[in-house]
Amino acid sequence: RLELRDISKSFGALEVLAGISLHVAAGEFVSILGPSGAGKSTLFQLLTGALKGEGDMRFDGAPLDGSPFAFMPQRDALMPWRRVIDNVTLGLEVQGVSRRAAREQVAPLFAEFGLAGFERSWPAELSGGMRQRAALLRTVVQQRDMLLLDEPFGALDALTRAAMQRWLEGMWRRHRWTALLITHDVREAVYLSDRIYLMSARPARIISEIAVPLQRPRTTGSDAARQAAA
Ligand code: ATP
Ligand code: MG
Repeated sequence: RLELRDISKSFGALEVLAGISLHVAAGEFVSILGPSGAGKSTLFQLLTGALKGEGDMRFDGAPLDGSPFAFMPQRDALMPWRRVIDNVTLGLEVQGVSRRAAREQVAPLFAEFGLAGFERSWPAELSGGMRQRAALLRTVVQQRDMLLLDEPFGALDALTRAAMQRWLEGMWRRHRWTALLITHDVREAVYLSDRIYLMSARPARIISEIAVPLQRPRTTGSDAARQAAA
């Protein structure tokens, strides 16, 4: 589905990405593990078109064009001048869903994300972990072709982190999302992923690719339909 070949990026004299090649198949959950400052977030900025680099980026066989991604950036994901609910619906609204329909769609999820009662709050009135959950919520409701998550649980305490990881795993199973996750957390990567890419320190290369053994059983489409009906 996503295929990157020999992606390179420098900021002036600073070589950040030195030929990254990786792929993510449809329905696959892949993680990138790498040290701080390696260039992981930079890679996502190339994918979303926020930065230009070198190399070949393909999506479903065609050169990457526009953004098939629902993207959760590492920081500053929420617009401070929009209420939390309006931040969450933003990704749907840009796809043409009316604000009213978008609100109805996301409202039940506020409780699941521990954000009930904060719909009308401003982002500045939330804790860092709550802001992160609101950003994740906005990202996952978009139903685009692929998820890009840049350390989505970095600001969460251990218990909330574990709960959100379980939630994401459950949703991934049910919807077979195609996802690329950046994380520092080895356990998180192992728990959530089919495959893990290890990135070196800057200038970043992929130094290893690991298939996570003993896959979780995958629900099939009909199982998912049954679950949804239950
Ligand atoms: P972390 O795990 O801490 O989030 P990362 O792997 O995501 O780190 P990046 O944010 O991609 O790292 O940064 C990689 C390198 O590129 C860093 O040395 C950073 O200083 C540099 N860098 C990132 N963005 C820019 C920019 N816009 N201009 C100049 N240098 C930049
Ligand atoms: Mg980063």
